[in-house]
Amino acid sequence: MGNFEYMRQYGHEQLLMYSDSVAKLKAIIAIHDTTLGPACGGTRIWPYESEEAAINDVLRLSRAMTYKSAVADVALGGGKAVIIADPHSDKTEGMMRAFGRFVDTLGGRYLTTTDVGSTGRDLEYMHQETPHVMGLPTTVGGSGDTSVMTGLGIYMGMKACANEVWGSDSLTGKTVAMQGFGKVAFQTAHHLLKENAHLVVTDVYQGALDKARDLGLNVVEPEEIYDVDCDIFSPCALGGVLNQNTVPRLKAKVIAGGANNQLLTDTDGEEIHRRGILYAPDYVINAGGIINISAEIGSTYSPERAREKTERIYEIMSKVIHTSKLEEIPTSLAADKLAEERINSVMGIKQIYRG
Ligand code: NAD
Repeated sequence: MGNFEYMRQYGHEQLLMYSDSVAKLKAIIAIHDTTLGPACGGTRIWPYESEEAAINDVLRLSRAMTYKSAVADVALGGGKAVIIADPHSDKTEGMMRAFGRFVDTLGGRYLTTTDVGSTGRDLEYMHQETPHVMGLPTTVGGSGDTSVMTGLGIYMGMKACANEVWGSDSLTGKTVAMQGFGKVAFQTAHHLLKENAHLVVTDVYQGALDKARDLGLNVVEPEEIYDVDCDIFSPCALGGVLNQNTVPRLKAKVIAGGANNQLLTDTDGEEIHRRGILYAPDYVINAGGIINISAEIGSTYSPERAREKTERIYEIMSKVIHTSKLEEIPTSLAADKLAEERINSVMGIKQIYRG
């Protein structure tokens, strides 16, 4: 399918490419929907194997941001950015500042923050070129690392799922298999370890594995994570990991993690439902970061307010489960339904956000 056809089918507003040969920057921004507010979503820095793969990723991720903000009840639309580069070896101040200038050309139609491969330091460089950066480090007046609230939200979502499956939301003694041990997984692990859950983790990056070993966690090879005997499988790396090859291998009763776009296709959500596994839709339980950012807009940032709203992910996840049972549909579809209901309720006043 061509890009225009894809955008028409999934309702995207805009797709932009930017090149700065001096800064060695190749970046793409996708704006999916600005019905609820300016498009907001992080910047992913990843060595994509092709431009096509990067475009496909940014289009899918930007759409998920629209649904995430809609379900989380924040006044933001959906957008995302990707930079084609290796975050461990290619990133420079020049590249980040060039990207900041790209974001600035949109005049606030797109607000950026961190994602896979980007950090608070990168945001500081971007911020030297544009005000449209959210979740800056607290040391420079921002609300700080989004992964802190994202981790809290995932933990609350897991508890809502546990309550449904095991009749108690306690995670004590439960085994959680985490795929990826980056920022979000680390924050989620913090809550799980406090509740005496057992963690088995994997990552493709040695630095992340060293961090896991320092915490005394069990580490397995990346490909082995799907076969771990666990109660909860928690994808916290990249998307597309729930598919026809991996789902039949899972032993978990619950899938609940932070990665965006975990389902490769809608059919995979149906298959998970058919197998009696409770899937916490990614954008429902990983919304803590966007909730935190939304608390920066239009008022003085209050960490208490952001935390209280993030903890509500427990209720939102419970509502998704309720809708899924009532209508006998997979949780992935139940979440889409709740998101679309909210967007449609304000569609009558839709205006393209111009910044
Ligand atoms: P991160 O870069 O800090 O961590 C991701 C980790 O996954 C890295 O350590 C990477 O090496 C690892 N990884 C990549 N491919 C892997 C594989 N095949 N197997 C095992 N590990 C692999 O990024 P993050 O901020 O922790 O984000 C993780 C996921 O959560 C992403 O999908 C992101 O879009 C999503 N997310 C992040 C936030 C946030 O606040 N940072 C919010 C919502 C969703």
